Formats: sequence, C-alpha cells, structure tokens
Amino acid sequence: MSATDALLSTKEQAEYFAAVEKVQNTVASHLRANPNKTFAIAFVSNLQRGVDSIAQAAINQGEHFDCKAGCSHCCSVHVEALEPEIFQIAHELKKLPPAEITLLIERLQQHAIMTKGVSVQDHHILCPLLKDNLCSIYSVRPAVCRKAHSYDVEKCKARVSEIPESLEVILKSEALMKGTAEGYRRVNLPVSGHELGQAVLLALTDETAEARWYSGVAVFDE
Ligand code: SF4
Repeated sequence: MSATDALLSTKEQAEYFAAVEKVQNTVASHLRANPNKTFAIAFVSNLQRGVDSIAQAAINQGEHFDCKAGCSHCCSVHVEALEPEIFQIAHELKKLPPAEITLLIERLQQHAIMTKGVSVQDHHILCPLLKDNLCSIYSVRPAVCRKAHSYDVEKCKARVSEIPESLEVILKSEALMKGTAEGYRRVNLPVSGHELGQAVLLALTDETAEARWYSGVAVFDE
C-alpha cells in the first residue's frame, strides 16, 4: 500500500488490511489442501482473474480508462511478477517452436544486460515480451500488468510520474496481490516481486528452478 497509504483514511486502511488478511487465509487454505507444485503454480490464475474482475467492475460502473489494444506506453516500465506467475509464463513460452524459444532467450539475455543496474525510476526499456506492440503472453501476463490503467493516455506518453488512475482499482488489486503473496509465504513458498525479463530467463533456462522453488528456495534471489 506504500504508494497510496498517505491518501487513505483510517477506515480505508483498515478495510485494505482486512482484505489482505482474507485473501491470505483463503490462498493458504487452498495451497494446504492441494500440496503439489502443479497446483501451486496454476492457482495464481485466481489472482489474475481477480485483478481483471476488479478493473472490469470499475468499467461496468461507468469508469472510462484510456487503455486499448496496441497501446503499450506502460510496457517500458519496471515490471515485477511473482514466482508462480513467472513459472506459468515460462510454461506458456515453452510451447513455442524451439527456434522461437532460442530467439526469445537471446532477447531476454539482451534485456538483462540493458536493465542491469537501472533503477526502477530510470527504467524506460521495452518489455522483451512485447511483440508488434502487443503483449505476447497476454493470457498469462502478470497481475501487475493487469492492474495498470490510465484515465489519460497523454500522461502515459509524457511519462509523468503520477499516472491518473482509479484509487479503488489500485487498492483492491494491491490487496489481492499482497494477500496472495502472503498466502503462499504462509505455506513456506517464497513469493515476492521479481523483475520480469530476468526472472523469465531463469525459469526458461534452469530446469531445476521450479522444483527448488517448491522445496522452499528463493530461486530468483540467488
Ligand atoms: S508482460 Fe505484457 S503487458 Fe506486461 S509489460 Fe510485458 S508486454 Fe506489457
């Protein structure tokens, strides 16, 4: 809640923390009831569907966001994904023909070189998963990308630091994301945000990463 907590009343903060707690309990209980790696990775789809539903509910209530297919101004910012999201993306990418996977790995390696040492604020580097101005992993894109929206595309083009957004969408999405990460951690699965390109590169090239993560190793922090 760091970006928004100063804007919230005590009641709103209490609601946010209650939402985080509720999600955390639900996630941990599902993971305990289904103690296997395949489930732990696939379960993160609930987070992604949840974030999509939050944005859709806002639109259904009359909110108008300036986002549309082919607009990729927000795809050059620093993006972080959670461990199960990263493995889910890697599963999807491994379905590509071998020659495309080889090219993708080269692109991810180039991206890793370009982003090395670049601060979050100075990160204006296109996502290596953007293709022809469209997200090449749209169906499994991380929650943080699904949460992104803007009331004014001109502000996105100008790269202003404060993009006009719906506080309600951001808060509800962040509660879901934080609660999900804490739910995984509660069952001893390390889950936190990792720079997307570098993490996907590791997940694609290290055959042991998934199993080591499921045994409790923070593989993206090594
Ligand atoms: S994963 Fe997709 S939506 Fe997210 S930054 Fe990359 S191209 Fe854009």
